[in-house]
Amino acid sequence: MRSESSLLKKWIMLAFICLFVAIAFSACSSEEKLLDMTYPYDESTIYWPTAKPFKLEKVSWGIAEGGWWYASNEFSASEHGGTHVDAPIHFAEKGRTIEQIPLKEWIGPAVKLDVTKQCEKNRDYLLSVGDIDNWEKKYGKIPDGAWVIMYTGIDTKYYPDKKRVLGTDKTGEEAIPELSFPGFSPESVKFLIKERNITGIAIDTPSIDYGKSKEFNAHQVLCGADKLALENIANLDKLPPSGATLYVIPIPIKQGTGAPARVFAIIP
Ligand SMILES: [Zn+2]
Repeated sequence: MRSESSLLKKWIMLAFICLFVAIAFSACSSEEKLLDMTYPYDESTIYWPTAKPFKLEKVSWGIAEGGWWYASNEFSASEHGGTHVDAPIHFAEKGRTIEQIPLKEWIGPAVKLDVTKQCEKNRDYLLSVGDIDNWEKKYGKIPDGAWVIMYTGIDTKYYPDKKRVLGTDKTGEEAIPELSFPGFSPESVKFLIKERNITGIAIDTPSIDYGKSKEFNAHQVLCGADKLALENIANLDKLPPSGATLYVIPIPIKQGTGAPARVFAIIP
């Protein structure tokens, strides 16, 4: 009896060890499937040259009178800088503001269009309908509710080097003629809106319109169709061309035309 019960104990122990190893392994592999696609905010965060940059002020940072540690900051910035979203109101008078867009609308399949080679040759490259066709020939039709992401390599390689990302490190109006980076052509945005059922478009540059744009046509078309934009998305080199789900979680600023967002992908 005694030896039987000790055998039983050994079996139970072994079962527990196996269970522990299985849990530890699954936790580890699920960690690997989570990709953070957000640049942290600090004084180097890239904003439009005419916009107010990110500012952090330490209000308290030390031992309080009562003897305990107490730390608290204040921060301020433009809505449109770093990894951030645009609400339709940004370029459409009757468009929705950030807090009017339901949380579930911010989540969708990630479609990555790799145009890094084209952008290497031409910093002012415009994504074409042909680039979308090429992706669909390989991976199938763009799924409903997708975030269509233009992978230019600009932020992914150079962020937060302003000169190499924006084409200039000047600030204010004098920087505007020097802006140079790729973007979506208005035709490609029209195609995605009319021929496909997307949630929004994203890019690893500071704007979905290219740097040389004067009228921001990609913004006008997209916002006019009540769709969403995501700019300065990080870590695109680690995202697969299809199959991942993108989570774009902006701060729900009331009347917000845009907002900083924590962006991540779950990769199957
Ligand atoms: Zn924006």
